[in-house]
Amino acid sequence: MTVITIDKDICTGCQECAKVCPVYAIEGNPHEPQKIIEERCVNCGQCVQKCKSYISLVDHGAELYAQKRAERRLPETVTEPLFAAYNVCHLDEVIAALKSSKFTMIMAAPAVRVAIAEEFGMPLGSLTPGKMAAAMRRIGFKRVYDTNWSADLTIMEEGTELVKRVTGGGVLPMFTSCCPAWIKYMEDQHPNLTKHLSTCRSPQQMSGPMYKTYGAQLNKVDPKDIYLVSVMPCTAKQFECSRPEMNSSGQRDVDVAITTRELAYLIKLFGIDFAALPDEEFDLPLGDYTGAATIFGVTGGVMEAALRTGYTLITGKELGPKDVDIQPVRGTEGFRTADIKVGDLTLKVGILTYLKNIDPVIEKLEAGTLDLHFVEVMSCPEGCVSGGGQPKLVLDAYVPEAYKNRREATFVHDKDLPKRKSHENPAIKKTYDEFLKEPCGEKSHHLLHTTYKGSGGHH
Ligand code: SF4
Ligand code: SF4
Repeated sequence: MTVITIDKDICTGCQECAKVCPVYAIEGNPHEPQKIIEERCVNCGQCVQKCKSYISLVDHGAELYAQKRAERRLPETVTEPLFAAYNVCHLDEVIAALKSSKFTMIMAAPAVRVAIAEEFGMPLGSLTPGKMAAAMRRIGFKRVYDTNWSADLTIMEEGTELVKRVTGGGVLPMFTSCCPAWIKYMEDQHPNLTKHLSTCRSPQQMSGPMYKTYGAQLNKVDPKDIYLVSVMPCTAKQFECSRPEMNSSGQRDVDVAITTRELAYLIKLFGIDFAALPDEEFDLPLGDYTGAATIFGVTGGVMEAALRTGYTLITGKELGPKDVDIQPVRGTEGFRTADIKVGDLTLKVGILTYLKNIDPVIEKLEAGTLDLHFVEVMSCPEGCVSGGGQPKLVLDAYVPEAYKNRREATFVHDKDLPKRKSHENPAIKKTYDEFLKEPCGEKSHHLLHTTYKGSGGHH
């Protein structure tokens, strides 16, 4: 499916997008409209964030504007400038589901809650999970759940998988699999190396089958009647949820993925005054989460969350409150490594952010000299807080401040949550007791894990 497009009528050929594209997927002559090579594009949306060439209602007239807005399937309430590089909007499907008799559920990824408020004039990096939950409820979603819940679930599965690989002689290093842009890159460019990817689905794709099986039981609804909307800081998530194999619940696991920007359009469409909303909670149990889940939104966060639980899985002990912050894996450098003592074991870890930095890592992996156990990869410059679906920063000067503030707000949220390790999430414990039984068990294998092109799987 095509996710990202360049409108040739609007593109001036400035080639700024090509400079930020991590996989060199944009081609064309200078000063002529550019084209995206679909087979290379990983749908990261960095070009959408960068592009400055636009048409506006004032400068280009209502007729052309309305035509372009319709091509993008944007609601008619949208009046802001339309840029040359864009992703198609899927809000029409969400609105149809809200009007139908479907049992609608919504969830949002960690990085959405530190950025959505920017669309309503609040400062860069405002932390507003409570307002976001309140807005979703006022729009009329029957359940307001949270992808952070499934980030905790991902850690249980991925941490267990890592320990099994390390202690059982499995393929190492193991790479994280939460970022669909990274996964597409590996499948397209290096199918011979996909055995290094964790078999865990991303949090989005763990929520889908869980909400439509266990969640259907809890809510006493027919899984066929559930319509699940996922709000992501990411444009590649729509590609991910459309993948044919993402139906392990027996239904389409996630019905539609929208971006942070699009959730803001929806909130505005319903005439909700976001800044004035009270803080509300997510619905329990499938909206309960820990600090470990929320740091998935920043580079190094999945690694840190995995280490907090991995420590307990390996040693049987708990990290004390002072040791929960694992500073050596924090930071924003493109590639960083650390040795982490876990009981008698020294775990060698790597964190890569921005796929532009990947080539030397792949070279070492191919040569068998990447001496690491576990590597986190996020395609966007500083992880999901800088994702292609986040509020657009039209002035480049605001970009560093926005990333910094969103990152800091994420760590504030982590610190303030009552529980900061995924295995301490009571809703996750309940899920294993009542439904999944054990991490990486038979049920998890069917619902929460996947295979990749080249890994001997079924694609
Ligand atoms: S899509 Fe935007 S950023 Fe890319 S060349 Fe065209 S105008 Fe420039
Ligand atoms: S979406 Fe990402 S990979 Fe695709 S063309 Fe744009 S910047 Fe490149």
